[in-house]
Amino acid sequence: MTSWVVFSDLDGCFLNEDYTYQESLPALESLRKHKIPLVLVSSKTEAEIGWLVLELGLKSPFVCENGGVICWNRGSDSIHERRTILGRSRVQILEFLSTLKPEFSFRSFADLGVDGISELTGLDAVQAGRAAERQTNEPLVWDDDPVRLEAFQQRIDQEGLTLTRGGRFWHIAGKVNKGTGLRHVVDHWEAIPKVARTMGIGDSPIDQPLLENADVAVVIPRPSGEILIQIQHSQLVVASVPGARGWAEAIFQVLDGSTRDEVNHG
Ligand SMILES: [Mg+2]
Repeated sequence: MTSWVVFSDLDGCFLNEDYTYQESLPALESLRKHKIPLVLVSSKTEAEIGWLVLELGLKSPFVCENGGVICWNRGSDSIHERRTILGRSRVQILEFLSTLKPEFSFRSFADLGVDGISELTGLDAVQAGRAAERQTNEPLVWDDDPVRLEAFQQRIDQEGLTLTRGGRFWHIAGKVNKGTGLRHVVDHWEAIPKVARTMGIGDSPIDQPLLENADVAVVIPRPSGEILIQIQHSQLVVASVPGARGWAEAIFQVLDGSTRDEVNHG
């Protein structure tokens, strides 16, 4: 069988909207059986992803903060073995944001604190604490006039940073994305066979660079059935159902296909 590495987004893909993943488990078992690594790629923090990596017993690296941090997990009890920071450090981002404070009105996670994050997101204190532990990315609430965003954006650009709209927050980060995260893991993870093919799985526009950088792109529909990623890719698979069920279906489909190809072509 072709050797594969699966790079997957979490929310709306491996995880359902309600954070359950039972329906993903049969496909995860199959990946294990074929010794195919699963690399989780998320905009979440190391603290938010780490517990799941431990719970699942994954022994592969994982990509956090939208490509800003690579954790070189090897499956020991401590996931904090070694990490690579690819984006700009949060300390540098906060220093820069402090210079913009007199000019623009906004509150970043550092201003909000765990209580404020909890209030705005509905996360409990533990979850909000995990979300606050950022290393390369700072979310903020825009309190200023929306027309001033353009001027703000210009200042962010001049600094060599990026401003991206998330669901509830704007995110300030270095020039990284999920695709640069995938490339870094492929180039630097010694356990990946040189001939391995990559599968990239996502459900939102933020996942597009991940899919573009993968040999096979898998799009998972949103719970409404809507397809949010419009991508031109020579090897495109669109799951027929959302969430964890679609995730498992797509993995079986690609793996079955690659087994059949080998039977057909030797
Ligand atoms: Mg998602």
